[in-house]
Amino acid sequence: MKFPTKAVHAGVEPDPSTGAIMTPIFQTSTYVQAAPGVHKGYEYSRTHNPTRSALQNALAALENGKHGLCFASGMASIDAVVKLLKPGDEVVSTNDLYGGTYRLFTKIFEPFGIKFNFVDMGDPANVAAAITPKTKLVWVETPTNPTLRIIDIAAIAKLTNGKDILLAVDNTFASPALQNPMDLGADIVMHSVTKFLGGHSDVVMGALVVNDDELAERLAFIQNSCGGTPGPQDCFLVLRGLKTLHLRMERHSSNGRAVAEWLAQHPKVGQVYWPGLKDHGNHEVAKRQMSDFGGMMSFTINGDKLEDATKFLSSCKLFTLAESLGGVESLMGHPASMTHASIPREVRLKSGVTDSLIRLSVGIEDAGDLIDDLKQALG
Ligand SMILES: *Cc1c(COP(=O)(O)O)cnc(C)c1O
Repeated sequence: MKFPTKAVHAGVEPDPSTGAIMTPIFQTSTYVQAAPGVHKGYEYSRTHNPTRSALQNALAALENGKHGLCFASGMASIDAVVKLLKPGDEVVSTNDLYGGTYRLFTKIFEPFGIKFNFVDMGDPANVAAAITPKTKLVWVETPTNPTLRIIDIAAIAKLTNGKDILLAVDNTFASPALQNPMDLGADIVMHSVTKFLGGHSDVVMGALVVNDDELAERLAFIQNSCGGTPGPQDCFLVLRGLKTLHLRMERHSSNGRAVAEWLAQHPKVGQVYWPGLKDHGNHEVAKRQMSDFGGMMSFTINGDKLEDATKFLSSCKLFTLAESLGGVESLMGHPASMTHASIPREVRLKSGVTDSLIRLSVGIEDAGDLIDDLKQALG
């Protein structure tokens, strides 16, 4: 089945008791047992819920994986992956990681004795050099946030596949419509479902997709034991969002191209980071592993002054200043003071998060209207 067909149909069956074409919101915590242990596969909603099951199956299908697991947030899903490890284990991760992931790794898990090694994954040789006999997990995020660097997933899979090292990819920025890390050798795909999968800025959720049965079982054990699961209403909203994922990503990508090309020729704009631009440092890798380039980008203002960024951000009318991304509406953010505020200045400067860097999540509005808004704000 091709992706658009899967986006509409995967994981969902008409409700057997009523014929309802849409999966009902099973707003229940528990399920009746005919006799002790005699039930229909559902006992308690932290463990299993039919609305969540439908969504988990849909997400697995979209990522070409076998098992999906949903969590109360993207962070809860990453938390579950790290809990596969034990004290003394090591993780190799990218150095321009999502701020929340960096915080979880360094502030929560380092004190438990797990060691994190952050390297520039633009060159897979750096990953090879960082792997030790204690390395049990390689954590990749691509495109990276916020400078949209592309990491070669297949090249890194060559370093981990066949060894006792899990390769996990945070696929939030690309969505399964544009990139399927499992096909490139990843063991675990992670999503902040909050973003493109939900797509309407009305849900916070996370998900993991895996192929291996035993790994799925270990993660389901963690999911149930730690309890960071989403409610059925949120699962319903995401099931609805998924049905237009392919259409939304097409428009995010075409609007992304229009905005990035316009920004790139503007005299007041410094760097433009969008992987679809030919002069983007990793454009060739992006072309190989992504089917299109999406609506996420960032840019700097010439001179790199904080005041200029602040003035620009408060002058935009259509682009709204807010955390988050991936919704139908265009949003913008200032990583240095928002998403990446928890990363020390000297660390963030090294990865390109300078004072004037502005991140755009280009929505699905009219491209001309979006460009007009940027034009008046830069003016
Ligand atoms: C938002 C985000 C997360 C965290 O997800 P939440 O749903 O906010 O918990 C992780 N990785 C990336 C790339 C994100 O954009």
